[in-house]
Amino acid sequence: MSQLRFDGKVVVITGAGNGLGKEYALFFGKRGAKVVVNDLGGSMKGTGASSSAADKVVDEIKAAGGVAVANYDSVEFGEKVIDTAIKAFGKIDILINNAGILRDVSFEKMKDEDWDLIYRVHLKGTYSCTKAAWPYMREQKYGRIINTSSASGVYGVFGQTNYCAAKMGIHGLTLALAREGLKRNILVNSICPVAASRLTETVMSKELLANLKPEFVVPLVAVLSHDDSKETGAIYELGAGYISKLRWQRNQGYFFDTPFTPEDVRDKWEQVAGFGDNVCYPQTSSEIFEIFFNKEDFIKQQK
Ligand code: NAD
Repeated sequence: MSQLRFDGKVVVITGAGNGLGKEYALFFGKRGAKVVVNDLGGSMKGTGASSSAADKVVDEIKAAGGVAVANYDSVEFGEKVIDTAIKAFGKIDILINNAGILRDVSFEKMKDEDWDLIYRVHLKGTYSCTKAAWPYMREQKYGRIINTSSASGVYGVFGQTNYCAAKMGIHGLTLALAREGLKRNILVNSICPVAASRLTETVMSKELLANLKPEFVVPLVAVLSHDDSKETGAIYELGAGYISKLRWQRNQGYFFDTPFTPEDVRDKWEQVAGFGDNVCYPQTSSEIFEIFFNKEDFIKQQK
């Protein structure tokens, strides 16, 4: 069985000093890639900074015979992060936007600082590193980008309005970038991992955490980052060895003869808001126009 290799590839992994990012970095180091280990080295709430987290991972990669350099900038300054790859290795092929922090607090008690810092690290950080890598990827007609979203953003979690908004924003970025990158062989996907790390160790039981090894997230990231991948614009939920893909579902809906009233909507609520058998899975924002343009037929067929 042939091994998925990354020889000659340059990979930048943000937040690679701990948790998931560290596992990605060690993996790519072992599979032949040249690795930029970015980590600000602060606390899980986003305070402080230190070079030691990134340095330790670089040392580990080198000790195993791999090639790696450290970068200690915050992902908010993506140009500096990507510059490290360009200066050390001359290019950037794979970008794994992974750095993250938490500032959980109910919306009522949330301070602007909690909102802003989560936005800056997650959404702005993902934007900033991608923005800096994008011209190089376009020019070389090759790129693989993995953005780290979260089930919190997909489903919503009490006490995480800041994080949920940023994480769903990241997937919106993925969806649009996937379209913009397609012609230049830049593939962009999102993952929603679940793994034991300092972000989850206080909110999950020891038994659960034991099954959620961060290394179980690595295989999907490797497949999506590989030359052979064709996948783009997708979002996956994964952890504990389980991997699954998500997509949007649209109900049949109801086409009202215009003009129509709020009472008409109320009286057809089951058709407007319920999900029967007749569902579809739209993939573009323009598909709804097919329905708009086929109003007469739709109205004839609908119950
Ligand atoms: P972690 O705390 O172990 O690792 C995150 C790393 O990011 C840390 O080393 C931290 O120093 C670094 N970092 C934080 N802010 C940074 C910044 N501004 N610039 C550069 N580096 C910075 O956490 P983890 O669980 O490995 O999380 C990795 C990613 O996965 C995060 O984006 C997180 O939101 C996401 N995620 C994790 C889980 C989970 O179950 N662990 C679930 C959903 C999403």
